[in-house]
Amino acid sequence: MKDVETLIIGQGPAGLSAAIYTARGGIKTMLLGCDPKIAGDYDIDNYFGFHETVSGKELIDRGVAQAKRFGAEMLCDRVLAIHFDDTGKYIVKTEKDEYRTCSVILATGVSRKKPDIPGVDKFDGRGISWCVSCDGFFFKGKKVLVAGEGIYAANQAIELTDYTPDVAICTLGKESSITPEYMKRLRELNIPVIEKSIKELKGDDTLKGIVFADGEELNAEGIFIALGDASSTDFARSLGIITEGNFIQVDRDMKTNAPGIFAAGDCTGGFLQIAVAVGEGAVAARSAIAYVKETCRGK
Ligand SMILES: Cc1cc2nc3c(=O)[nH]c(=O)nc-3n(C[C@H](O)[C@H](O)[C@H](O)COP(=O)(O)OP(=O)(O)OC[C@H]3O[C@@H](n4cnc5c(N)ncnc54)[C@H](O)[C@@H]3O)c2cc1C
Repeated sequence: MKDVETLIIGQGPAGLSAAIYTARGGIKTMLLGCDPKIAGDYDIDNYFGFHETVSGKELIDRGVAQAKRFGAEMLCDRVLAIHFDDTGKYIVKTEKDEYRTCSVILATGVSRKKPDIPGVDKFDGRGISWCVSCDGFFFKGKKVLVAGEGIYAANQAIELTDYTPDVAICTLGKESSITPEYMKRLRELNIPVIEKSIKELKGDDTLKGIVFADGEELNAEGIFIALGDASSTDFARSLGIITEGNFIQVDRDMKTNAPGIFAAGDCTGGFLQIAVAVGEGAVAARSAIAYVKETCRGK
């Protein structure tokens, strides 16, 4: 377990801007995230100060170098879950490690993926769930499925075993990308990984069963969606943070309703642009700096 003062999730413009401010403000900063959306060959023509077109990659590379210059630590790692700790701090679980932090800045952009399952909307909230920490309890002892192909899905499935021993993962026809380490834990917990797509969901008011593409049926009463990486809204749900659709609700200081959790950039909605993400990152950082100094320093 590593201790930091601010943990920033997302290496895009919002996260990097926040890291520049927190690290420069003397806060022990860890930034986690890989492959930001704009870090390819995309041409950016409308960002202040670059009178010639700049590539997304160059902009991100410059942000990384600047944040590192002020002492921000950075790792390509994916956050799987955040939990409130009884010491008043947050525990952030990643693919590679675990951190204890005083504050968190969510800067994950927008990446919520809806699964390709016929009838998924009909059962949303009636068997379909997006959050194990929020809804796992309602499926105590029931047969449940986690829909997803990666480590995020594996972690959600493992968390579900706190509520029911009858858990399986369905990759929705994709090839599993779960690492051997996680596969070993899944085997130990008797969690099978099914690489089939789903043809039909059964039930009247609530989900009662699943029909796979090959016709095989499973009488699962719950499907937890965990596609790709965990998004800010997934973290928000498990921490009781208010959202508006897929966006995190924040005030003018980029504070969420959870103490010590701030959000910035595309994940807060509005005008989804680099200039806005950078500005919001700076505001979120200022709020996080004040929070760390008031709440965690010297305690
Ligand atoms: C093709 C394209 C072209 C664009 N062109 C322009 C343009 O010309 N001008 C402009 O102003 N805007 C442009 N945009 C919009 C701009 O890219 C976004 O508004 C901006 O990147 C938002 O920044 P962000 O930091 O909020 O999110 P992002 O840039 O999306 O960064 C989010 C980061 O979070 C990481 N992340 C997500 N989940 C996790 C997790 N669980 N654990 C760890 N890390 C995680 C991601 O990997 C990524 O690094 C463009 C967008 C696209 C897709």
